[in-house]
Amino acid sequence: MSVQQQEVDLRRTFAIISHPDAGKTTITEKVLLFGQALQKAGTVKGKKSGQHAKSDWMEMEKDRGISITTSVMQFPYNDCLVNLLDTPGHEDFSEDTYRTLTAVDSCLMVIDTAKGVEDRTIKLMEVTRLRDTPIITFMNKMDRDVRDPIEVMDEVEDILKIKCAPITWPIGMGKEFKGVYNLLTDETILHQSGQGHTIQEKRIIKGLDNPELDEAIGHYAEDLRDELELVLGASHEFDLDEFLKGELTPVFFGTALGNFGVDHMLDGLTQWAPKPLPRETDTRTVKAEEEKFSGFVFKIQANMDPKHRDRIAFMRICSGKYEKGMKMKQVRIGKDVKIADAVTFMAGDRSNVEQAYAGDIIGLHNHGSIQIGDTFTAGEMMKFSGIPNFAPEMFRRIRLRDPLKTKQLQKGLIQLSEEGAVQVFRPLNSNDMIVGAVGVLQFEVVVHRLKTEYNVDALYEPISVATARWVSCEDSKTFDQFQKKAHDNLALDGGDNLTYIAPTMVNLSLAQERHPDVEFHKTREH
Ligand code: GDP
Repeated sequence: MSVQQQEVDLRRTFAIISHPDAGKTTITEKVLLFGQALQKAGTVKGKKSGQHAKSDWMEMEKDRGISITTSVMQFPYNDCLVNLLDTPGHEDFSEDTYRTLTAVDSCLMVIDTAKGVEDRTIKLMEVTRLRDTPIITFMNKMDRDVRDPIEVMDEVEDILKIKCAPITWPIGMGKEFKGVYNLLTDETILHQSGQGHTIQEKRIIKGLDNPELDEAIGHYAEDLRDELELVLGASHEFDLDEFLKGELTPVFFGTALGNFGVDHMLDGLTQWAPKPLPRETDTRTVKAEEEKFSGFVFKIQANMDPKHRDRIAFMRICSGKYEKGMKMKQVRIGKDVKIADAVTFMAGDRSNVEQAYAGDIIGLHNHGSIQIGDTFTAGEMMKFSGIPNFAPEMFRRIRLRDPLKTKQLQKGLIQLSEEGAVQVFRPLNSNDMIVGAVGVLQFEVVVHRLKTEYNVDALYEPISVATARWVSCEDSKTFDQFQKKAHDNLALDGGDNLTYIAPTMVNLSLAQERHPDVEFHKTREH
């Protein structure tokens, strides 16, 4: 087997999707504890309680008061190298979250079992469906008085339209959470409370009918035997193929805070989740095992480290191997660039990578020449597809306090839109600048960054825009006519793409009726 193949086989690249407060941050901490990454981070930063033990990166976000960054962490587990791309939980979300999901091969869905399926989870699951990403489910907070697990599982099946295959099943809940029974291995793993900060020694009882089980958990043993019949009737058996197609999710129960069950989930992830998958380009499918290097940029982040005042472009390697100092072709501009100092964030340390393989994420220093969606190759002219821009759902007009700074404002907004921090639209019939966002936090971030990075003092005004759609048409004549008729509703986005700005949803449907040959797109690919 080639070295490339071996390295690819080792890798699992995933992200966590969940509604805020379901426990994503807590799970990330425990996952890192298992990856033994935190211990390292802990010695660097001085021992803190697990509650505060986060990567330096997250710490930095906290200092900045905004945590919209998607962090990347690599750690070893079960002979695998796991890459976790996390979107730290904030009330708001940005398109970065979505685009991060294009850079992973599987997702962990975390559900607060007391609450069931919540809004954000529904939205994020829709996004994973675009690529049929395999989903592993963790039902969290079993140490609380949660809802009936069968009911929550049914809810997942009904609302998210994915079959559930419980791998473990919980015994009791809240203060009486006794542990889980593993349906595949026929083992009961007993829960001990108050062990959340450590890796617990597993207490395992083999066999469902083992009298030891009755000794250990009393009447819960008999209840479990009864309930399991019901569970088997109400759920599906695990099927690897269906999981890989995104049709079925293995379900684990536990408590992230109590650090119980997270390792079961990690075992499932390393065993079943796909190694780096093939990716589509405009010319062909690229396999991870290929020797030649390729990758795409899914995120750009500025000012992550106050000491390095540059931007970092996050690249998912799709094939081949990155080596320090190698040359890559940046396809969009057709130039070869030498990448001497890509970075990674192992356990929160910003360190130089010597080499990285398909499935890994590396950070490239960017002085403005890299855009989201950019493809880098060993020379081949191709472009990875499927990295979307989403039609924003909120709009504001942006105004300067000092009108002399129009140029800086434009420059700042266009650069921020290239990064994907926000979208900007310039109506054809005025000098307005309209900022569009998917979440409200983006507006604040933009004004803050305009001030600190571009020295521009800007403020927002309300504007009656309901939605925007990118427009295109196969027939150029028809498109010309449309552009004349709809002139007052048209704008250019940050990349000079034509957009229809609709004051109301009714206006949009009328425009669509009137111009049946024009396509109105909800997403635009970079
Ligand atoms: P995020 O917003 O999804 O990142 O959620 P956090 O990990 O920050 O968790 C939100 C809150 O739920 C915090 O107060 C956690 O301590 C708490 N929490 C997380 N997991 C558990 C759990 O398993 N049991 C209990 N009781 N609380 C939990």
